[in-house]
Amino acid sequence: MLKDRRARLVSLFDREQLDCLVVEHLPNLRYLTGFSGSTGTLLLGRDAGWFICDSRYTLQARDEVVGLEIIEHSQRHEAIASLQRDVGWQRMGFEADHTMVSTHQALAKRLPAVQLVAVGAELDAIRDRKDQGELSALKQVAGLASDALLAVLPQIRPGVSEAELALALEVEMRHRGADGRGFDFIVASGERGAMPHGRASNKRLQAGELVTIDFGAVLNGYHSDETVTLAVGHADNRQQRMYDVVLTAHNRAIAAVRPGISCKELDAIARDYICEQGLGEYFGHGLGHGVGLEIHEAPTLSPRSDVVLASGMVVTIEPGVYIPGWGGVRIEDTVVVTDESCLILTAVPKRLMVV
Ligand code: ZN
Ligand code: ZN
Repeated sequence: MLKDRRARLVSLFDREQLDCLVVEHLPNLRYLTGFSGSTGTLLLGRDAGWFICDSRYTLQARDEVVGLEIIEHSQRHEAIASLQRDVGWQRMGFEADHTMVSTHQALAKRLPAVQLVAVGAELDAIRDRKDQGELSALKQVAGLASDALLAVLPQIRPGVSEAELALALEVEMRHRGADGRGFDFIVASGERGAMPHGRASNKRLQAGELVTIDFGAVLNGYHSDETVTLAVGHADNRQQRMYDVVLTAHNRAIAAVRPGISCKELDAIARDYICEQGLGEYFGHGLGHGVGLEIHEAPTLSPRSDVVLASGMVVTIEPGVYIPGWGGVRIEDTVVVTDESCLILTAVPKRLMVV
């Protein structure tokens, strides 16, 4: 399977006329080699590949990395240069979006005759369509996180702080087998809800507020992503109306997910509805994003994205409105694009829950 994934890079090699490719971005490294450690280098030629790591990771690499020669070396740039001298590569690709300037400089210094070729978004996009193993991992982690949220619902009540809720949710996820939280949860109540990425603070929930909770777990490298907005105690007419607008936008977008629709068409379905309701200026971010080995990955669902959805892609649908001085509503599910429509992986009900 890892060999198949590496074989998908052949067209990239052809297009960029590469002799080899250096991969160090951990999600790409894990996807292409199976290595789950925190430092390593894949040096991929057209017919062979090498995995370079220092002595801290040699045993782990021998255990996890499939079909590559493992080279232990304390100076990875030296190891790359030494391989280049043996094999004679002329054009070496590197990850444009993830390579530090110092790494590029070190390679350029050691390999003056080699052309270093920046390879951009198309490399990360090789992970956009998930295989069966990835889909079952994503389904498992999404279900686990949703169950954890449902288990802590009784603790969401006036007087509890946003930070206490975030901690309780993380503990519940770990009890249920998660490796950890997938990202810093967003817990934003009352007026703080106007901040789309308001981190959990020491503010305490009050009756009559909405609280937006954006949460996810990580398990075996794969992430989940879901957002609920709840009413604490009771909801007034304005809160209910805002919620209904966002929920309708969310439901319309999910109903439109299918292979062949472009990301910007999908974004427009939710955005146009929110604009029709006079709230367009309060929906500032894109409709969603891919989820997998990273919490945010390709494709991006935004008004600027021409990417076309394909079966096997896993994306979030997360419209929201954020009104300064009032608060906000976001509703997010993660879905997998199927042959005809989509399957929702996240499981917390999306009607307005009053807790
Ligand atoms: Zn989220
Ligand atoms: Zn998201």
